[in-house]
Order: sequence, then C-alpha cells, then structure tokens
Amino acid sequence: MIYNLQKFQAFHSRLSMRTSSTTDLEELLAYLLTEILEFLSADSGSLMIYDPFEHRLKLFRSIHHPYMPQKKIFHLNEGIAGLVFQTGKPIRVEDSRSAPPEYKLRNAKGGGSFLSVLLKISRKKIGVLNLNRDKDKPGFSLEELKILETIKSQVAGIVEKGRLLDELSKRTDELESLYFLTKILHAGSDYKQTLRGFLRHLSKNMSMERSAVIKFIEENKTDLQPPFEILASLNLKKTDLEKISSQVLEQLKTDLLVRDSYPTDNNDDITPTTLPYLDENKPMELFCLPLSGEKPARNHFLIVSSRHDLLVDREVAKRYYRLLRIISKQLGVAVEREGMMELIRKDQKLLLDNAYKSNIYLEISKELASTLNPRIVLKKAFEQFGKLIRFSTISILLFNDLEGYYQAVIQPTAPLGIKYLKRLEGEIPKIFRDYPANPPLSETEKIQFEIFEPHKPHDRIIKNYKHTLHLPIILIDHVMGLIHLSTAENRPYTAGDLEIITQFTGIFITSLKNAILHRQTEKLAFTDPLTGLFNHRYFQEVLRQEFIRSRRYQKPLSLMILDIDHFKRFNDSFGHLVGDRVLVHVGRVFRGAVREKIDIVARYGGEEFVVVLPETPLFGARNFAERIRETIEKEPVGGVDKQLSVTISIGVACTLNSSCDKPSDLIEAADTALYMAKNGGRNQVCIFQGEAKDGVH
Ligand code: GH3
Ligand code: MG
Ligand code: MG
Repeated sequence: MIYNLQKFQAFHSRLSMRTSSTTDLEELLAYLLTEILEFLSADSGSLMIYDPFEHRLKLFRSIHHPYMPQKKIFHLNEGIAGLVFQTGKPIRVEDSRSAPPEYKLRNAKGGGSFLSVLLKISRKKIGVLNLNRDKDKPGFSLEELKILETIKSQVAGIVEKGRLLDELSKRTDELESLYFLTKILHAGSDYKQTLRGFLRHLSKNMSMERSAVIKFIEENKTDLQPPFEILASLNLKKTDLEKISSQVLEQLKTDLLVRDSYPTDNNDDITPTTLPYLDENKPMELFCLPLSGEKPARNHFLIVSSRHDLLVDREVAKRYYRLLRIISKQLGVAVEREGMMELIRKDQKLLLDNAYKSNIYLEISKELASTLNPRIVLKKAFEQFGKLIRFSTISILLFNDLEGYYQAVIQPTAPLGIKYLKRLEGEIPKIFRDYPANPPLSETEKIQFEIFEPHKPHDRIIKNYKHTLHLPIILIDHVMGLIHLSTAENRPYTAGDLEIITQFTGIFITSLKNAILHRQTEKLAFTDPLTGLFNHRYFQEVLRQEFIRSRRYQKPLSLMILDIDHFKRFNDSFGHLVGDRVLVHVGRVFRGAVREKIDIVARYGGEEFVVVLPETPLFGARNFAERIRETIEKEPVGGVDKQLSVTISIGVACTLNSSCDKPSDLIEAADTALYMAKNGGRNQVCIFQGEAKDGVH
C-alpha cells in the first residue's frame, strides 16, 4: 500500500469537513469507520468507546464485523480491545493463526489480520479502534500500524467531540427526564406513592438504582420512635437504610454534611460529600442531599447510592452530583408543597368539621323548635348532643317554676350502676350550690332527679365515671341551671368540648325555656282555676279527638256527666265560699278516681263535671261511675267546719250504645241519662241505652 502525503491530506480534510457537519454520534462514527476502513484497506472494523459513567466499553459501530454481531457492551478485561484499553499498547496480528495465545482470540483458526489501538486525548482514554482484514489478503504491516497511530489522535478528537455532543443531548434527555420527574411530583395525589414513583423513574431513566427519601424527626420525638421516617425507598434494604440514616444523623449533628453538601449554586467546583458504605462487600458511595425547595428543608434528605469506582472520574462525579442537586431541588419543592397541602388539608378538615357542627346545630334548632313539649325538647337535645360530644350521662338541672323545685333530668347512654348515680346525685347539687342561682339551691329542700331511659338500655352497666364537664345555664344574666356531662372514658374533656357545650346550651336552652313557657300558658288556658281540672274548652277538644279515634279503631268511647245534687242549697245555706269548697272537694275525688293520663276529668260548667273514658264500654263506665258516686257519698267535705255530705247524680253514655254521629250526640245521650238519674231520685247512676249498635256491649 502506498500512503502518500496527498492521500493523508485528503483523508484529514474529508474527516474534518464531515465531522463538523454531523451531530449524531452514531452517524459520525459510522462515517469515521468507513473512511478509516477505506484509508487502511480494512474489510471490517469497530470503535469501542469508553463510558466512564458505566466504566465499560461500548461498541458503537462495526462494519461487516465477523465476531461481534450483537453484543454492544464489553467489560474492560474482555478480549483484545480490553487488553489494549488497559495496557494502552497497540496490538497488531498479521495472521490470527499465529497469534500469541494470551490474546485469547475467539476465532484464531479462521485466519485474518487485525489492528487494535487505544484512542486517547492527552491522558484521557477515549476508546479502542479495531480494524480487520480478511484471511486471504496480506496482513496488516507494521507500517500500517504506524499510519494508524498517526491518525488515531484525530480520530480520538472526533470521537470525543461526538461524545461530548452526545453528552449534551443526553443532558437534554436528563432535562427531559427531570421535566418528567417534576410532572410526576406535581401530579401525584398520594405523597408517598408519588415519591416512590419518582425514585422508580430515577432508577429506570437515570441509572440511580438505589435511592431513598428520608425525613428526620426532631420535634415531639419519643424514645420508642426511630429518629427518622423512610418516606420512600428503592432497592435499599431497611436495615441498611436504618444504618445509613443513623450515620447521616451523626453527621448532621456535626453539621458537616449539611455545610458540605449544601453549596451555593454558583460554585462550580463542587466536591460532593459522600458516605462510604458497603453493599454486599462492594464499596459504594452514598450521596445524601438535603432537599431544598424555596426554603431549605433540612429535615428531608435524598439518599442515592452509587458505585465507588464510578466516581473516581472527577468530571463524572461532578456531573452526577450536579444532577442530584437538581433532583433534590425538585424533591424539595414537592416536599414543601406537601407541607402546604398538609396545612390546607388541616384547614379544610377544620372547615368541614365546623360545617358539620353548624349543620348539627341547625338540625337541633329546627328539631327543638318543632316541639313545645319540654320533655321532648330535652330528649331531642340529648340525642343531638351525642353527635357532638362523648358522654356517659348528660344532666340538666333546672328550676321548675310550675312546681317550685329544682329538677335534674339525667340522660344516660347505657344503664348506670348505683355508685355512678349516687356520685352524680351528690356532685350536681354540690357544684350548683357554688353558683349565685335564682332561687339559690339551698332555699329549696332538695333536687328531684328524673332519669330518662338509656339510649342503649341493653348495654353493659357503667359503674363509675372518670371525667366531668359542667357549665352553668345562664339566661339573661341569671344562673338558672346547670348542664353536666360525665364520661366513663379515660379521656378528659377538652377546651374544644367546652366550646361545643357552650354553643349547644345556648341553642337548646332557648327552646327549652320556650317549651316550658308554652306549657305554662297552655296549662293555664286549659285549666279550670277553681278545681285545677281541665276546663270546658279542653274537654271539647279531647272529646273531639277521642271520638275520631274510637271511630277509626272501632273502640268504645264512654262519657259521664256528673252533677252535684241540690247544689243550690250549699250556696244558699252556707254561702258561695263553702259552695266553692264543695266543688274543689268533688274535683279532687274525681281526679283521684280516674285512670291517670287515660281518662280526662273536666269541669263542664257550674257544678257539672265530665269524665271522658276512652276504650271503655258502657257497663264498664257504669261500674266506674257507681264507684265514684259511692266515694263522693262517703267522703266528707274537707276544709269546712260543718260535716257536709255531698251526693251526685251521674249520666253515662257510650258510643256503642247510642247512635252518635258527632261528639255532641254523645254529650246529649249522657245528658239524657243524667236527667233520668235526677228524675229517678238523685244520688244514682243512669246509663243511656238507646239503639245498641251492632249489639256490642
Ligand atoms: P239539682 O242539680 O240536684 O237539680 O239541683 P241544683 O241545686 O244543683 O240545681 P241547679 O243545677 O239548677 O243549680 C246549680 C247552681 O249551682 C246554680 C248556681 O248558683 C250554682 N253554681 C254554679 N256555679 C257555681 C260556682 O262556681 N260556685 C258556686 N258556689 N256556686 C255555683
Ligand atoms: Mg246543674
Ligand atoms: Mg246540680
């Protein structure tokens, strides 16, 4: 072969022209090889480029190469190329069949010749260039090796430039990867899952196989807790991570790590701080970076482990570290954002809680306003109260204006033991005596306790309580009662609980007061002031309702009208006052005789009374009337000097024994019977036996 100066110049100028216009590394190397092959009349060849990041040789292009069709990655101790790379000495084999055995040629017998030279720039190893010539051609000469040696630095320069360009585009990839990472970080809803996804991405796309994000807990730490929390980890054993974390923590204490691994951005010459660490006896370097978003978050750290030997190259280590810093910044932003989210979540929960409470308060107000029965008001209030606050008993102590004594209503959630009740009954008056109540509790003899049916009557008996909470009930600057909560739970009431009960009491006490007032006026409106019995108006209302009910359920309804015999004589002989006494007397006897809460006794007018007897047939009513008549006859009138005896006449009628279309028909029938009793000689009971309906008695 003749290599003249012209040929050299042509070769060099072609290379420099072409390589300045190509940015794609593969394309560039392919071109480079083609030119070299042609220049040195080789049949095939390859370029193996050193990757300091992975610490191995990468095959970039092989044209018609017989021995390495698929494999792309070679270890540094593999084959001729590995040998050349390690020793730096070129290898020339004129004929593979006579090659020294230490070359360990894969296909020595196949024949052929080859050249292998190290590509380097100053001291930096770039890769290995291999050329092959087929077996039937003359082998590479020493001169040809020298020629190759003269062009190899230009080739190395081109390769390095291509590699740098490729590096640049890789950085673009990294940036893209980072962009993607950022997207992961900001799209995730579950924080820890997001972090794990982030680490997985680091592993897959950025060759950071082992990593973790840890958080050091400084505040409110208990001795049982480890001083750190592993938020996410990938391919790092928990025990290793714990060891690492402890080490990092030690470093943190001396503040070395933070200072060194927290350099200013402008500082280009960063010496990354790492912790040495053994992974299955392989020396590893551990990067530990504080996560910094806008503010430095010094309690969060990104841990990435890297093989020790990878970091020997200072340039590589620096680049790696720079990347890690960008990542840690991104993570820092995410951590910060999570902190913000946490705060927002807390705020939202508070808002929701408040909305929930307000809603209950609204419900309570509505419900409480729906009834004017104080008992029901209390029951409903207690029920709603249970949604807001925990208690075993809730008690309300209030002055009963109507009856003139203090009354305590206790609502238990479950049946109460005797000891529990005794304690409660002792505590409530004791607390209340301390308040300037009106009237003071000491003036009234005692408190009447009423215990409502427990919410869960079949629950276990609660023996005693552990904590109480109480609050005076104040209405227009007056202490008018006490609200008292007790719980068997071993958890004290909080200031929040006190707030709830204060708000709640405000709502419910107005309703209760309204209900009590209403009942008082109602009672006055329906009561006969002289006898305390119901008045005519109330009787008419009750009769109307009972009449409808008896019809709907096909039940008998009886009515008796009672009239005092010769009442005029009492008035005339002893005066109206005595007459009134007689009226009060018979009223009391009547009330005592009837079934409480079932039969209604009312003063019909003057000295006439009525008793409404629901679900009572005619003869039952008659027997009952007879008993009353006898009692009146026997009982002397109290509160008068004279021995006065009173008799009454009673007329009884039943819906089943008279054709009643309306309530007044029943009154008329009973009145007819009464007229019969008067006519029959007074002091007797008469029944109305008109046309019996359906023959039922
Ligand atoms: P009898 O019913 O047995 O036929 O005789 P009587 O005397 O009771 O007759 P009547 O029903 O006619 O008289 C009712 C009297 O009762 C008339 C009235 O003066 C008197 N009276 C009605 N209301 C009251 C009251 O509130 N107080 C008093 N002291 N007397 C009343
Ligand atoms: Mg009369
Ligand atoms: Mg009379």
